[in-house]
Amino acid sequence: MRVDNLEVYESWQVSVPTIYHSYLNHLAPIGVGTPLVESLTSYIARLAASHTMNVGTLLEREISRLIEKKCGATHLLSISRFLGAVNGVGSTSQDLVWALERLTMHQDLNLLTMLSFSDVIPSRNLFRSVRAWCPACYQEWQERGNSLYEPLLWLLKVVKYCPVHQTPLIDKCSNCQHSNPPLSREFQLGFCSRCHTWLGQTASKNNASIRVTELELWKVESLGALLTLTPSSREKLSATNLTQQLSMLANEVTEGNIAALARRLKVPKNTLWLWHSGEVLPLLESSLNICAHFKLSLVDFFTGEVGESLDLDNWQLPKRQPSPGNADLASSVVRGESFDLKVARCWLERELSQSEHPPISVSEVARRLGCHRRVLYKYFPDLCSAIAVIYKNYRQQSHQENVNYCCQQVREIVVQLYAEGQYPSEGRVVALMDKPALLRYEEVRSALQLARTDLRSTASLNKP
Ligand SMILES: [Zn+2]
Ligand SMILES: [Zn+2]
Repeated sequence: MRVDNLEVYESWQVSVPTIYHSYLNHLAPIGVGTPLVESLTSYIARLAASHTMNVGTLLEREISRLIEKKCGATHLLSISRFLGAVNGVGSTSQDLVWALERLTMHQDLNLLTMLSFSDVIPSRNLFRSVRAWCPACYQEWQERGNSLYEPLLWLLKVVKYCPVHQTPLIDKCSNCQHSNPPLSREFQLGFCSRCHTWLGQTASKNNASIRVTELELWKVESLGALLTLTPSSREKLSATNLTQQLSMLANEVTEGNIAALARRLKVPKNTLWLWHSGEVLPLLESSLNICAHFKLSLVDFFTGEVGESLDLDNWQLPKRQPSPGNADLASSVVRGESFDLKVARCWLERELSQSEHPPISVSEVARRLGCHRRVLYKYFPDLCSAIAVIYKNYRQQSHQENVNYCCQQVREIVVQLYAEGQYPSEGRVVALMDKPALLRYEEVRSALQLARTDLRSTASLNKP
């Protein structure tokens, strides 16, 4: 073995270790950037345990003194029993994140809550009222010596299954048959708060006979993908995107007819109007149902990037592979790669060469091939981009044609209403339009304004 001075000096660690002078433990949250990111409830419980304190003491002594609210410490403990208050989209969650970030000197603890989704997901019906857990996850973490924690995903009401084991989440202790409050004074991760029994169990014993549906698993994976979004991607989430996506769906699927879209989605017409106008946000479950219906990704739906991924024909969920590990979950979009590359190339080239109308999207090609469009983009980026450009141009052109048609129709309706002695109000005009959803476009609105102005000036000229 050759040892010279240079090697010895190089092996020295001369960097100064980072020292955190945080008041409480600088405890790292688990799973940030993955679908199984920890919840704030779980973080509070682990933080308390790391100081050999119970949860009640941590909340009463340390956290509540920072949160300047009228509520006393006892109140903080009682509101912490609501999952929505701690992990949700409201001010209590915001206050807790703020206080915990100061006490632990960990930034981005808001990623352990649903705070960054407040523009697109309403708080109503979002969280469970009691704890739910996957016994197999607990069992595996314990056997591997990993930290026990509760993923944020387990707390969401719409999540019924563990994405890793594909078994139902459990919300009653198998020993005492009681449900567990989300946080209590003596809360302990992995154990029943009432009888203190271990909640883990091997996967084979845990409801092996209950079969999970593809749709349920798709929902869990969609939410998992949402939770993996980076802070900068989360900035793109907005209610405006969501209403624009609904308008786009109405235009594409039912030619702007909201009532017909409501029938197709099996939701009341008025409800869809409220979502469409941006007055009310759809519940998380409703957004998931819309996405599932049109085979959209929830992330694209919220970030406004649906565009050419829209698939209007009858759809099937993408083919799944058995039991993905949680690390695979985020990359599940590229599953189903076992297709014939030659056949795929042929399809893409044929699609590109044919001038037949109307062109189809890369998603549609992918659907017909039985794979995900991202797989096609991975192997044939140039062909896919070329097809996407053709399809986008086609979409733009047909959109313009629709807008032109509406402008013309609006002018005719204004004249018709005037002739009938009625003022051409927006409500009356919309009621007579073939594609009322298009009235939100600037061009159509201007056409309406202009038609009214023209009519007024003609009327005044005609006055004796
Ligand atoms: Zn599990
Ligand atoms: Zn129990």
